[in-house]
Amino acid sequence: MAAIVDVKDVHKSYGSNEVLKGIDLEVQEGEVVVMIGPSGSGKSTFLRTLNHLEDTDSGKIVINGWDVSDSKTNIDKTRETIGMVFQHFNLFPHLTVLENMTLAPVELGKYSKDEAEAKALELLDRVGLRDKADVKPTTLSGGQKQRVAIARALEMNPKIMLFDEPTSALDPEMVGDVLQVMKDLAKDGMTMIVVTHEMGFAKQVADRVVFFADGLINEQGKPEDVFNHPQHERTKDFLDKVL
Ligand code: ADP
Ligand code: MG
Repeated sequence: MAAIVDVKDVHKSYGSNEVLKGIDLEVQEGEVVVMIGPSGSGKSTFLRTLNHLEDTDSGKIVINGWDVSDSKTNIDKTRETIGMVFQHFNLFPHLTVLENMTLAPVELGKYSKDEAEAKALELLDRVGLRDKADVKPTTLSGGQKQRVAIARALEMNPKIMLFDEPTSALDPEMVGDVLQVMKDLAKDGMTMIVVTHEMGFAKQVADRVVFFADGLINEQGKPEDVFNHPQHERTKDFLDKVL
């Protein structure tokens, strides 16, 4: 079976700063991959290359069957298959929750307005926010905003969800609800790549933990192996600081 994500030898520099130094990664359908690693190691840059928010200098990226590294690929079509959730929600403040969710799919002609709204309400139900459909995001807590952002990403029926530190900007009491939504999603079989510092989530939910350092994947494996028996000094040092 073809991998959902197939990355080969990806390099990326910003000026003289080589941020990705040859990344190889395959992710299978239904797999949950958690990426950990020190700040500045290239995790966000890597996630952003997957849906072509960043160009790469060399290497190959195929995601959901689309070759993102090929300039002839229809990147808008590719992105429709990829849901992305950021640290800072990125909701439109002047639109209601429902409008935030239905704007893109209706504009792209994916669903009619009625279909999009029905689907949005169903998803809001799933993240526990059905009653917030008609409010503006500014009235929501951080955790609620992030759950809306997740629901909004799901509205497009993505084949894979990318999360970049989705709970890092939240007050501690909000983190659990967001992680629960992500756990439910994983249980339903969604393919996910999650950059996070939530080691509990990684241990509980990840099929694989990938340790990023200095622009390379230094080590990867089952959570119990990486956390309990790290093979490399760099991984040990990092885990000593965060566990
Ligand atoms: P992480 O997410 O692991 O903290 P990033 O991917 O954000 O790491 O950053 C990796 C490196 O790339 C850092 O040195 C950062 O300063 C640099 N970087 C990230 N984005 C840009 C950019 N748009 N322009 C220049 N340098 C960048
Ligand atoms: Mg980052």
